[in-house]
Amino acid sequence: KKPVIAIDGYSSTGKSSISKVIADKLGIIHLDTGALYRGITWFAIQNFMNEDGYVNLQELFSSLDQIELEFRNNDNELILYLNHIDISKQIRTTEVSDNVSIVAKQKEVRDFLLQSQRTLAEKGGIIMDGRDIGTVVLPNADYKFFLTASIDERTNRRYFELAGMGIQADRDQVKQNLINRDKIDSEREIAPLKQAEDAIVIDNTELTKEETIDLILSYIQN
Ligand code: C5P
Repeated sequence: KKPVIAIDGYSSTGKSSISKVIADKLGIIHLDTGALYRGITWFAIQNFMNEDGYVNLQELFSSLDQIELEFRNNDNELILYLNHIDISKQIRTTEVSDNVSIVAKQKEVRDFLLQSQRTLAEKGGIIMDGRDIGTVVLPNADYKFFLTASIDERTNRRYFELAGMGIQADRDQVKQNLINRDKIDSEREIAPLKQAEDAIVIDNTELTKEETIDLILSYIQN
C-alpha cells in the first residue's frame, strides 16, 4: 500500500510546494488542506461580510450545508471545487489571508471539513499538508513531518510567491499576516498548530526547497 504522509508546520515554510514535488516523485496525490479553509473563508467573504470588515460567523455556520466540496485530480494535485467553481486563484488574495485564521478556529468549520479530509486518505497514497494533519486529521499517518523556518525567511518566501502570482504585496504586511496567523493557529482550542509527538521536525531556514525535499525523501525511502 502506498504511504500516507502528513506535513504540518508554520505558514510559508514551503509545505505545499514541497508536498507537490514529493507527490510527483512517489506517484501519490497531494492535498493542500489550507485551500479548504481558504475556500470556506472566500465563500464567507462573498456572502457574509459585515460592514466592519469581518465575516459574520453565525451566518456562515448556518449556511455550511449549502457548500458542496468536490476534489478533482489534476496532475497528482487535488483541486477543490466549491459549489462547482475552481477558486484556486481567488483564495490567495490578502483579503482571504487576513480572515482565514478566524474562520479556521471555529469548531463548526473544522467539523465540516474533517471527514472529507479523512475520506481522501482512506485508500493510502496521499500527502496532505496543513496544521493539524499529524495530530488530528491523520494521527495514524505512516510518516509525519513538521516544518519550521525563521520569520524573515518565511516573509521573503511569501512575498516572492505573491509577486509570482502578480500580487504586489507590502513586505511588512506580509510579515504581520504570518505572525498573526501563526499566533491564532497555535493558540486556538480546537486542533491547534503543533508538532505531533512522533513528527520529524525540520527547520529549513537554511535549506533550499530541493534540499528539504531530499531530506524528507531520505526518511521515506529508508
Ligand atoms: O496553508 P495555508 O497557509 O494556506 O493555510 C491557511 C490557514 O488555514 C492557516 O493559517 C490556518 O488558519 C488554516 N488551516 C488550518 N488547518 C489546516 C490547514 C490550514 O487551520 N490543516
